[in-house]
Amino acid sequence: MGDVLTGVWTDLVGQEKAVGVLRRAVESQPGRFSHTMSHAWLVTGPPGSGRSNAAKAFAAALQCDNHGCGQCNACRTSLSGAHPDVTLVRTETLSIGVDEVRELVRRAALNPVHGRHQVVVIEDADRITERGADALLKAIEEPAPKTVWLLCAPTPDDVIVTIRSRCRRLHLATPRDEAVADLLVRRDGIAPQVAAEAARAGQGHIGRARRLAWDEEARARRDAIGDLPTRLRSLGDCLRAAEDLVNQAGEEAAAATTEVDAAERAELEKALGFGSSGARPRNAQAAIRDLERQQSARLKRLQRDALDRVLTELTAYYRDVLAIQIGAVRPEEENALRGARLVNAGWSASLHRVADSHSPEHTVATIDAILDARQSLERGVTAVLVMETLLIAMTGADRARW
Ligand SMILES: [Zn+2]
Repeated sequence: MGDVLTGVWTDLVGQEKAVGVLRRAVESQPGRFSHTMSHAWLVTGPPGSGRSNAAKAFAAALQCDNHGCGQCNACRTSLSGAHPDVTLVRTETLSIGVDEVRELVRRAALNPVHGRHQVVVIEDADRITERGADALLKAIEEPAPKTVWLLCAPTPDDVIVTIRSRCRRLHLATPRDEAVADLLVRRDGIAPQVAAEAARAGQGHIGRARRLAWDEEARARRDAIGDLPTRLRSLGDCLRAAEDLVNQAGEEAAAATTEVDAAERAELEKALGFGSSGARPRNAQAAIRDLERQQSARLKRLQRDALDRVLTELTAYYRDVLAIQIGAVRPEEENALRGARLVNAGWSASLHRVADSHSPEHTVATIDAILDARQSLERGVTAVLVMETLLIAMTGADRARW
């Protein structure tokens, strides 16, 4: 299986099957579309499985004279986003609207500069609005001969039905921990032991695993989440911890956006002609308000993502607790095939304490409460309120006691 992942495909660990499909499509008939090739693809897979990397590798292979050697100029520029015939759409905002889609459709219809394909990769096709989808539909139904659309989304259900029904689907698997660990060692030079722990804690999310391997602060934040279930002893603890989690998510989001925000603002002001003559063009205020709205939406989304990671960690924690409670844990030292492996083996003492002090029913109820919290956040319920409710449920209180 190892020889499938060479050239541009090298880092798509755990995706040998999908890569095989893409390679056959690339190699099928150069310049012509056949039953293995299609003008529109929908690449789905869980977060962190490498959807956009798979799409970019596919784009590179389509532009490369050697089907994705990974070395040539076409490969390198396709992967970096600098290839003139590869458009990478990576939106930070909450939706991709009709104007943006129309512009993409226009670009997709252009003749490729280098004569092979005109490829458009949309990383978050699930954010295309209904009107945007209408604009895209015709382009996908009657594509220009050399155009290839590569749409990425978590699941097919996330994409508007008229679009997904016209795409060839490709699903990526959740990569196994061992494959992620190997990648961290090989590509990022992480020590094997650290890589193995980070891969396990990352739960199949390659970017998350990499972050945990590199970033001490990320590890510390994760450890703090692991402490929560044993640390909350009073209503006051829960309220304080909820506030801390929400503030921390806000700080994380701000740290990730402050610089980009300023750069975007400066670029817009320059484009609007600020600074040179001192005159303010008429539409300047509207354009700036528009940018500010998008930036604030991005900040909110990143904050929600950070809280969502907290929920993912807690889900894994209580799944481990449940495995202990029902005696389904696979022995660490053996190559046993039966039972579940603990995601958080490093927190063994804390897991056992919680497992001993609560019933399996309470654990199941807690996992349900985490799912409820996730849905509430998606519905836009105030974050602090959601986290307070969850943390209180986690303690299993008996609120009369407090
Ligand atoms: Zn190449």
